[in-house]
Amino acid sequence: KVTRTPLMAGNWKMNLNHLEAIAHVQKLAFALNDKDYDAVEVAVLPPFTDLRSVQTLVDGDKLRFKYGAQDLSEHDSGAYTGEISGAMLAKLKCDYVLVGHSERRQYHGEDEPVVNAKIKAAFRHDLTPILCVGEGLDVRKAGQQVPHTLAQLDGALKDIPAAQAASIVVAYEPVWAIGTGEVATPEDAQEVCSAIRGRLAELYDQALADGVRIQYGGSVKSGNVTAIMSQPDVDGALVGGACLDAEEFVKIVRFRD
Ligand code: PEP
Repeated sequence: KVTRTPLMAGNWKMNLNHLEAIAHVQKLAFALNDKDYDAVEVAVLPPFTDLRSVQTLVDGDKLRFKYGAQDLSEHDSGAYTGEISGAMLAKLKCDYVLVGHSERRQYHGEDEPVVNAKIKAAFRHDLTPILCVGEGLDVRKAGQQVPHTLAQLDGALKDIPAAQAASIVVAYEPVWAIGTGEVATPEDAQEVCSAIRGRLAELYDQALADGVRIQYGGSVKSGNVTAIMSQPDVDGALVGGACLDAEEFVKIVRFRD
């Protein structure tokens, strides 16, 4: 049986300035212990302006959690005003970077070619992309969630070699469940997560697919995380709103308790 270490990641979105970030990370650092870190991987995904503060705390205190950014440019440097490159994130020792979050797709027009280019940019700088995929309400109502999500996966992974794809994290986030309080049932999450794994096996091979972590995201809270995590193809959670409360995020990290 394949064992995949669950990845519990907090997407802060556009919340917490750098002082608030320090206070928040300190709370997490106080609460989490070696038992937690041995059981799961924990990551925070703050806004760009907080990353240096988070890095200083994590490095200075040898904290065992990981951190990363919520987006990156598809370019490595140059005349792209307002953009942040993978090289800059790597310099801040980020582990992860979200790519193709539904809010980027919706508000910034990111389509599959852009998502694909950003995944390539992440790999050029040894960042692990957390690729977000998932359907909107209209697609769900039409029962097309699996083909829709797999088409996003295919587009995002175009020309990505197996050596890189093996380390990717995929987050299945049904858009209708993000920030709405509307959580997918554990069976809904399992249906699409298992289809994603199946497609990874087709695109690459079964061993690669068995090793990739697939998270669920969408209104995850301490009260629903255990049931979602009990599904065989769900290997973690991408948590938005609930991660801003340190105590709540720690409860989510301890979903087995
Ligand atoms: C997210 O933004 O990735 C997310 C899952 O948000 P929420 O938990 O607030 O639904």
